[in-house]
Amino acid sequence: MIPYGRQSIDEDDIAAVVDVLRGDWLTQGPAIERFEGAVAEHTGARHAVAFSSGTAALHGAAWAAGLGPGDTVVTSPLTFMASANCARYVGARPALVDIDPSTWNLDLARVPAGTDAVVAVHYAGLPVDLANPGWSERPRVVIEDAAHALGAMNPDGPVGNCAHSDMCCFSFHPVKPVTSGEGGMVTTNDDDLAERLRSFRSHCMVRQPDRGAWVYEISDVGYNYRMTDLQAALGASQMTKLDLFIARRNEIADRYREMLADLPVGLPPAAPEGFRHGYHLFPITVADRRRVFGELRAADIGVQVHYVPIHHHPLSSDTGIQPGDLPSCDALYERLISLPCFPGLTAAHQEAVVRALESATQ
Ligand SMILES: *Cc1c(COP(=O)(O)O)cnc(C)c1O
Repeated sequence: MIPYGRQSIDEDDIAAVVDVLRGDWLTQGPAIERFEGAVAEHTGARHAVAFSSGTAALHGAAWAAGLGPGDTVVTSPLTFMASANCARYVGARPALVDIDPSTWNLDLARVPAGTDAVVAVHYAGLPVDLANPGWSERPRVVIEDAAHALGAMNPDGPVGNCAHSDMCCFSFHPVKPVTSGEGGMVTTNDDDLAERLRSFRSHCMVRQPDRGAWVYEISDVGYNYRMTDLQAALGASQMTKLDLFIARRNEIADRYREMLADLPVGLPPAAPEGFRHGYHLFPITVADRRRVFGELRAADIGVQVHYVPIHHHPLSSDTGIQPGDLPSCDALYERLISLPCFPGLTAAHQEAVVRALESATQ
């Protein structure tokens, strides 16, 4: 089966992890600082704070921003549930607005005035244009869910520089742009937010050296959301290949666009002038998706659907939004299917995918 996504691990990655095993720190140690430093350097953000997963990073961001009961947090309906759950984790109310059919990202112009926070998901790796949001009023808190978009670029710099947001969250799950096995990170330019994020991932313990070397104080409910040094060593090693990975994903996407030009399929929105797409996914649209999905799977092509929209899950009854209420997202979902797209996908694999698609759409 050719999977829709897969990690690319080389001997340097393996050596970096083995080195940690021979050293003194297994959990949060010097490799965490290296990985955080590499992500801060790549994005240009002042701070990068590692977490045990992208989901934990989103939880940390929602908490650090002070979101809680009574707050409304708008996100995209076309995402993984974690983007909405970060609101629920802190007792805030998740809300949804429809996608923009020209980008497949949430339509920021639809974010209602009075919204407390927005979680902007860069779907498939195409950055949401936060410099030109078109909203009537900027929410108090702007968090980017950049799980798909490490290595993608806005006209004013890399995704994660937080030029137009308070915090930006990444995931290092194996299918994401770079991996640490499991892992996440939050970037921010705000010193207070960075301190809150660091405290939250480690039980909100605050050392009190003036009162004794052993004294620490806990005033909030924190978690153990620490990343291990084993994971961070892998992540730091992977960061040295990020630009190659993204270039390779863009090559694969360009080739799909050529190869699929004459097939009865819809192509994903391309990056506008000045943007660089991350191509975490290469989602296309097809008529009769159920049949095409089945035929591709039968041909050993590991297609997937990203995503069952947020408002189609029973959990989202708390948003008051039902299937059919967000027409652009609902119409897209009916036809959506993700083709394999990852740095190690060979030309022969890609031809096999296109052949199978050709026969399934005839
Ligand atoms: C993968 C993903 C997450 C969650 O990241 P994990 O590291 O798996 O916890 C959140 N949001 C989006 C859009 C994702 O794709």
